Amino acid sequence: MVGTQTYTGSQTGQTTAPKEFKNFINGTWQPAKSGKTFQSINPADPSDIVGLFPASDKQDVDLAVAAAKKAYEEWRLYPAPKRAEILFKAAQLFSERKEELARELTREMGKVLAEARGDIQEVIDMVYYAAGEGRRLFGQTTPSELRNKFAMSVRVPLGVVGCITPWNFPMAIPSWKIAPALICGNTVVFKPASDTPLVATRFVEIMEEAGLPPGVLNMVTGGGGAVGDAILEHPDVKLVSFTGSCEVGRHVNEKCAPTFKRVSLEMGGKNAIIVLDDANLDLAVDGILWGAFGTTGQRCTAASRVIVQKGIHAKLTERLTERAKSLKLGYGLEPGVDVGPLINEASLKKVEKYVQIGKEDGATLVCGGNRAPEAGPGWFFQPTLFDNVKPNMRIAQEEIFGPVTAIIEVNDLREAIDVANGIEFGLSTAIYTKNVNMAFEAVRDLDSGLTYVNAPTIGAEVHLPFGGTKSTGNGHREAAEACLDIFTEWKAVYIDYSDKLQRAQIDPVK
Ligand code: NAD
Repeated sequence: MVGTQTYTGSQTGQTTAPKEFKNFINGTWQPAKSGKTFQSINPADPSDIVGLFPASDKQDVDLAVAAAKKAYEEWRLYPAPKRAEILFKAAQLFSERKEELARELTREMGKVLAEARGDIQEVIDMVYYAAGEGRRLFGQTTPSELRNKFAMSVRVPLGVVGCITPWNFPMAIPSWKIAPALICGNTVVFKPASDTPLVATRFVEIMEEAGLPPGVLNMVTGGGGAVGDAILEHPDVKLVSFTGSCEVGRHVNEKCAPTFKRVSLEMGGKNAIIVLDDANLDLAVDGILWGAFGTTGQRCTAASRVIVQKGIHAKLTERLTERAKSLKLGYGLEPGVDVGPLINEASLKKVEKYVQIGKEDGATLVCGGNRAPEAGPGWFFQPTLFDNVKPNMRIAQEEIFGPVTAIIEVNDLREAIDVANGIEFGLSTAIYTKNVNMAFEAVRDLDSGLTYVNAPTIGAEVHLPFGGTKSTGNGHREAAEACLDIFTEWKAVYIDYSDKLQRAQIDPVK
């Protein structure tokens, strides 16, 4: 049996009625026009209601987009270094409130406190990083092919941006979109995931406190269909920046296509860690456990496949099994807990379904595979390892998004790379080896947006581009300088000071 934190009753001591929160539109907090609300609950203890949030619809989205459209006219002209001052202030506030924000994040989303602090730290890093761009946002100057003519390129904002985000990094992912969008001079309508509206509300509160003018950032909570589709269909939304599943991402892409809305998509993964025979075994075991079971396997970059060379396979599996069994499950605010709950019951059922599929397809279940009610009344599932997995089995091909990883044996590096690449996704890959030649060959040939050497598939930093190849994305990268390409368009500017008509490509230049 997997080690558990024994559940000792109500974890939050909630005695009062849940607080009701609001949408943020045009600088004011307001309920949904319909008056309807939905609950956000603690996934470690579903009897703990975190809050009630507006179940918004098209009417609310229309108001938010109108406010953002109006605010854009002023915000785009407000100098970028001045926009940056607001973001610097916000980053400072996130930093000062890191601990309280992290505790709320654990309560609403379930990840253990140390990881929740990491989520907030990523916000701090990203908002500071974006603020720094306020004094860069560089374009280029270049010589003209004609005399007395000046040529340059400048970045221009797009207008109203729709940001649609998932629940697994409920504060970090919004920051990866909203901070760059704002520094570039866009205004935003933000639709957070329905499982984590409290954390989203805290994000917006801090941005408001930092001094954003009314209408520059608007938040509308509610369902994917009711709020999300209204954003996708709105003619005044110029760009949709989406992170979530491939299924919804495809829908976003299709809905935006008829009006040529700009779309940036960050979607699913089926990430692999390769372990070669010469690897440092202890290091690889630590990395796999963290990559596979950190955030309960609910990271887009989670290591859900372990591709191991045959000479080290038996030893690695034995060590991983032993360590996976010793992980402590429980409420993420309790000390000593390694693994929190899944986000909701549907996720729990999905993980159970894939465990069944793995067994039916002939993989060997070596540990886990069951719910863990001893850990608490929430959506707990044991860290689960499958061995003898074939590369084409469904548990090796499809995103499970839970604490399940599949061990696949290979003969050599070339086979490992082929197996790693033999999926529809291309987010993150890792290799453990001491052989520098093999490491560089893997870096060259692994088809993914991120590759780690002697480190797990998770752990991106905000000043490097983040995103995936193949079905994981549509060619964009978030974070780093690359994020500016999502939130701006290039304008080429020619200034002719010759006082005569000069025809490019036609008039001879003497
Ligand atoms: P999801 O696709 O179910 O939802 C994402 C967002 O889309 C939510 O806000 C949801 O309400 C909204 N949505 C749902 N239906 C919609 C519609 N019809 N129109 C517009 N919006 C709609 O994903 P999730 O369960 O929240 O998150 C998990 C997924 O996100 C996983 O597939 C994971 O790999 C992916 N993810 C990817 C990255 C990345 O950077 N590549 C990062 C984190 C998570």
